[in-house]
Amino acid sequence: MEQQTVCKTFKYKLKPTPEQERELERVVMVCRWLYNTALEQRITLYRQRGISLTRYSQEAELKDLRAEMADYAAIHSHVLQDVLARLDKTYQAFFRRVRMGQTPGFPRFQGRERYHSFTYKEIGNGARLDNGFLVLSKIGRIAVRWSRPLAGTPKTVTLSREVDGWYASFSCVDVPKQLLEPTGQEIGIDVGLESFATLADGTMIHNPRYYRQAERQLKTAQRRVSRRKKGSKRRRKAVRLLAKAHLKVKRQRADFQHKVALKLVQQYDTIYHEDLQVANMLKNHHLAKSIADAGWSAFMSILSHKAACAGRKVIAVNPAYTSQICSGCGVVVSKGLSVRWHSCLECGTSLHRDHNAAKNIERAGRARRGEVA
Ligand SMILES: [Zn+2]
Repeated sequence: MEQQTVCKTFKYKLKPTPEQERELERVVMVCRWLYNTALEQRITLYRQRGISLTRYSQEAELKDLRAEMADYAAIHSHVLQDVLARLDKTYQAFFRRVRMGQTPGFPRFQGRERYHSFTYKEIGNGARLDNGFLVLSKIGRIAVRWSRPLAGTPKTVTLSREVDGWYASFSCVDVPKQLLEPTGQEIGIDVGLESFATLADGTMIHNPRYYRQAERQLKTAQRRVSRRKKGSKRRRKAVRLLAKAHLKVKRQRADFQHKVALKLVQQYDTIYHEDLQVANMLKNHHLAKSIADAGWSAFMSILSHKAACAGRKVIAVNPAYTSQICSGCGVVVSKGLSVRWHSCLECGTSLHRDHNAAKNIERAGRARRGEVA
């Protein structure tokens, strides 16, 4: 029996009083101190004595730390534990990439601009909901703008500071699925460089035009920051505008991806796509391509989530040769990234390279599903 519920995150804007806002700021600041202190401790102990600290040994020290320092004592222990868990996660990711033969940047100290959230890892313990308010221990009752209903059971809540204010993200379990009626249709989908994606039926999904406009504004804002003197008031103002521009681009992108995912999920029972992780290892590291891939992977997680909610299937296939094989006859037609058109001399198939790839992905997916079933 397939599960009838999913996990889902719900994000809402908060309406803190100025006093609460100062408190939230303070918690973030202390969390950032802890993060940097714990990072320094790991580095120092390793350098001096070759000892690799674990998250748990650092966690065990929290009690003493809270006993000695009022700043730490004023913060719920779960919030502090989560800071150490975040640091540990960064370490794990670093070593995983090292093992894969990559050269990742070492976990770094967090500046004020980079660290802006904290988490209560258990609703009911330090954070709870009461009559539409979010009640945080030692901070108080914060008003929430409930832009849509919360579903399921909230387990954790993360408070984050964005350019335009504070937000709370609740991660919930047991969110009921909203199953869609089967349509009897399935589709292969390929990520593109010039278009956002191409479907096996030839439909091209283009990045919206307002992207370019927003990206131009982003560049202008970036140049403005670099022109201004470090530490100056004018520069700080420019940095703020840049952050706003970033946020705008980020939201536009998410909005567009949600809309595309919704359309696909409504129309198709099964969606096939290339396995991204494998694709990344196979393909050469073309810069534009890797940027497109980053957007694509965010999109895939949105799509997978919506599909799971609706009872649809999203299936990843092996990306080997999907762009090189002819979807008409199966011979290999080698082409570099710059060749945008697929023309087969064997069978005369002639179509856009991404369209050809999407067809191959769909075929590979169908074959795989045959194997699985
Ligand atoms: Zn052919």
